[in-house]
Amino acid sequence: MAGADNKHLLVDAKKCEALCDCGGKHTVPVVRVASGEGAYSQLAEDCAQTYSKGSVLLLDDENTHRAAGASVLELLEQRSVECRPVTLPGDPVATEELAERICDLSEGHGLIIAVGAGTITDLGKYASDKGGIPFWSVPTAPSMNGYTSSIVAIKVRGVKRTLPSRPPRFIYVDPDVIRDSPLELRQAGFCDVLAKSVSDFDWRVESLLFDGAYCSLPSAIVHGPESRYLDHPEKIPQGDEETVMGLFEGLLFSGIAMTLAGSSAPASGGEHLISHFFDMRESLTGMKPNLHGLQVGAGVILSAACYRRLAGLEERDLKACAENLFETEAGRIPSVWGSLASEVEQQFRKKRDRLLQFDSQLPLKWPQLRGLFSRVRKPDFFVDLFRRTGLEMTLPSLGIPKDEFTLAAVSARTIRDRITVLDISAHAGVLEDAAAETVEALS
Ligand SMILES: [Zn+2]
Ligand SMILES: [Zn+2]
Repeated sequence: MAGADNKHLLVDAKKCEALCDCGGKHTVPVVRVASGEGAYSQLAEDCAQTYSKGSVLLLDDENTHRAAGASVLELLEQRSVECRPVTLPGDPVATEELAERICDLSEGHGLIIAVGAGTITDLGKYASDKGGIPFWSVPTAPSMNGYTSSIVAIKVRGVKRTLPSRPPRFIYVDPDVIRDSPLELRQAGFCDVLAKSVSDFDWRVESLLFDGAYCSLPSAIVHGPESRYLDHPEKIPQGDEETVMGLFEGLLFSGIAMTLAGSSAPASGGEHLISHFFDMRESLTGMKPNLHGLQVGAGVILSAACYRRLAGLEERDLKACAENLFETEAGRIPSVWGSLASEVEQQFRKKRDRLLQFDSQLPLKWPQLRGLFSRVRKPDFFVDLFRRTGLEMTLPSLGIPKDEFTLAAVSARTIRDRITVLDISAHAGVLEDAAAETVEALS
């Protein structure tokens, strides 16, 4: 309802404290959400009250302008809010050059409002951080978990980088806009939110092996709305509001989970490396990456296949091969990464010490690890869920050649210094088989 302040806190500190089992410090982001038919009127009113003197940079693109930006602009004008609308043409990509241009455009403004999904939100967040300007978000699709995350993904000289950032203070959501977003974006968001079903285990495993920093709080937060979208994924293509908004909330909490953990670990593990691999390879192969969430979906199936195989191994199946394996994989980097090789090698070397500890740590902790591995859902479970959203979910439909997927499966672990199921699987000798199984499942 316009006029009434109906914004609610997405997560409150007390609830987080109750759910934490690590005793560590969690930064609870203060994000307020106004959701409902009158959300954009509420935004205009809040703007008129808070920023009546400064002007507002309103950022969208041609698609999101049609979906929501035009309405927001009209409401702001009705309230006589001084506003500079910037509608990016076509299908913009969050490159460093474009991000810097938005920074220049936002100079002197009192507030940035981003109306859009991944790209527009990242551009707005980036400019907000750099210029120290408050940032509000108007999401237009349940396509990824970046609305509430404290990172942005920006392409720097062709390579996607994640930079620290701050989530928006306010999020204004019109459920009709979210529900009516393009189907492919809803499907991508469904795959992205399910990453947690494998990445949370990657985080547990890494923590069990090395630093013990795991906490159940982020996973408990994401679990909240889960049944609303997981019970009936076939209602996502039907545009069922309850299901699509459940998915959207799941994504908001998934972003919050990363902020609570102080790292992207709860929502991003080996399955995300697969997506990052394709994004990064674009500058070498010229192959345009698919939507983030859809690529992640293929990664989820690979991770599940890895876990299934690892769960079947005994301690005696593990060989002391860490050093050899590291050198062999490091030796392949130049042929896979060409001009990006030195950068990738730097990342991979950062985890060398931990990888070398696999020889002693994996056998030592195998019984506990196996207990974790066996709790991960099987690949078929995820393939079925994804297909129930109307996705064909094959490599050809995702635009990923078989060879490229296999290369991603065996090499993606070199691009980040985090330990994931891909590293454990390589060490245990099951990664190539899991890759072949995934190619089969997705054909
Ligand atoms: Zn905790
Ligand atoms: Zn993601």
